[in-house]
Parts: sequence; C-alpha cells; structure tokens
Amino acid sequence: MEILACPIDKHYPLELHVFEEKEEITEGLLVCPQCDRWYPISDEIPQMLPDDLREAKDDLEWLRRWKEQVPDKVLTQGKPFKLESQAIQRTSPRQEIV
Ligand SMILES: [Zn+2]
Repeated sequence: MEILACPIDKHYPLELHVFEEKEEITEGLLVCPQCDRWYPISDEIPQMLPDDLREAKDDLEWLRRWKEQVPDKVLTQGKPFKLESQAIQRTSPRQEIV
C-alpha cells in the first residue's frame, strides 16, 4: 500500500499501524504526527477524508472496535474524533436518572 500524505496539512509520511494483514494491509490506522488526525484503513482502503466529510458515529464505532490496538494518544487526543468525549456522554444520562 502506498502511504499517503495528510489531506489537511499535507504532512508526509504518516505513522502506519497495522491491525490485520493478508496480502495487503486489510485493517489499520494512519496517524498524522503533525496535526494528530487519524485515518482508518478499512478493507484495504485508507479513508483519507477531510473533517467535514467524516461521520463521527462511524469513526467512533471503528475506534471502539480496534481500541485495544489503537495507540492511547489517538484514543484520548486524536482528531477530529476521540473516545474520551463518548465516555462522558455515556455516563451522564445515568446520573440524571438517579
Ligand atoms: Zn495532518
């Protein structure tokens, strides 16, 4: 797979994390060390989309699925989405019910 540049700041190269590999990398993660954005690789396809074309729900689902393998800095500080804010949302409705 050809390593791409970050679509936001054109930084190159990106950090590559491989989660699953057959003949090609099937599942993995690209991280831009300059702006902290992350891009999933899903079914061999790197999803290099600018922020306004990304779906928070899909991206967060993907992050949760791979969170054992995603570096902590991406889980807690990644852009444009990170898991931390989801955790807060999950606990607050429970407190309101009590
Ligand atoms: Zn970048």
